[in-house]
Amino acid sequence: MIPLINLKRQFQTVKHEILKEFERVLDSGQYILGPKVKELEKKIAEKLGVRDAVGVANGTDALVLTLEAYGIGKGDEVITTPFTFFASAEAVSRVGATPVFADVDPETYNLDPAKIEERITPATKAVIPVHIFGQPADMDDIMAVAKKHRLLVIEDACQAFGATYNDRPVGSLGDAACFSFFPTKNLGTLGDGGMVTISDSEAAQRVRTLRTHGTSKKYFHDKIGFNSRLDELHAAALLIFLEKIDGWNEQRRKIAGRYREALAEASHLTLPKEKEDRSHIYHLFCIGAKNRREIMQSLEAQQIHTGVYYPCCLHLQDVYASLPYKKGDFPVAESLSETLFAIPMDPFLPSDEQDQIISVLLASGGGE
Ligand SMILES: *Cc1c(COP(=O)(O)O)cnc(C)c1O
Repeated sequence: MIPLINLKRQFQTVKHEILKEFERVLDSGQYILGPKVKELEKKIAEKLGVRDAVGVANGTDALVLTLEAYGIGKGDEVITTPFTFFASAEAVSRVGATPVFADVDPETYNLDPAKIEERITPATKAVIPVHIFGQPADMDDIMAVAKKHRLLVIEDACQAFGATYNDRPVGSLGDAACFSFFPTKNLGTLGDGGMVTISDSEAAQRVRTLRTHGTSKKYFHDKIGFNSRLDELHAAALLIFLEKIDGWNEQRRKIAGRYREALAEASHLTLPKEKEDRSHIYHLFCIGAKNRREIMQSLEAQQIHTGVYYPCCLHLQDVYASLPYKKGDFPVAESLSETLFAIPMDPFLPSDEQDQIISVLLASGGGE
């Protein structure tokens, strides 16, 4: 059996280091927002070249707290992509603002900057580009549109730790950025975790205040906040993974290169396109095919797991039925949701498993 992501295998490679660090944390008596969290925040801020990083409980909270820290709420509109995980829009709704969708680029599957401009109204306050599947969005063009209309840009970088755009890391490109350390993300912990990266120190301080019940001084509360803290055990594990992440991303890119080369002639498959000015870290390797269902069935028949990201665009979700959208509004995103499927990808996917996956995919072309 070949799972989509073999987490067990990845964590085995660092198990001894993690257990040693866990023992130190257990002996320290400090389990939430202690020295490990501080060290992780400092290292991530340094690595990305931003002034501050704030550890929170998960990626969704990272988005919610950032929106709230910038005062975005009722009556405000935030433009994002309909082709993403639900949390990108859910966070906007959670703070009382309205998500406004714009279609994506057919090559990168990321927000199309030209489509953003069409959706701007006097109520628009921010844009949330999502670096989907690990490839950065068109940040220069998005930042230019945002600057022209005085909009805030919050990167949803939950799938893209370590990816770069014009040699600058995601997380340092917008006004703020949000990361998730959910276990399946390319930088994931052994449970939930998240991080906000931000260069505006006042906004960073507001996120810090929000994550602990709106308090900047213990038992004195300035605002209604959240309980959204990062645990020491997760920070300790993440500090270890942080040292490995560039190598792991490189291994993902190598496997992607192998897939790309072996499948180049398979005209029934659309492979992910990687733009020259950015590096894709392949959180997921998604292939497009008109007969997606049959191909997935032939892979599953060989015990090779696949997944669909995402089977329903956000503008067509039941929960957003009251928003003014209908099928056909975002043809690119809708077509992706009907044709893309993910094949196994993780840094330790052995080459014989890669061979098996490739041979089933080549055979699925029906002798082309
Ligand atoms: C995973 C993910 C989130 C949410 O992160 P959690 O840690 O699961 O809350 C948000 N946006 C995107 C694009 C994601 O992939």
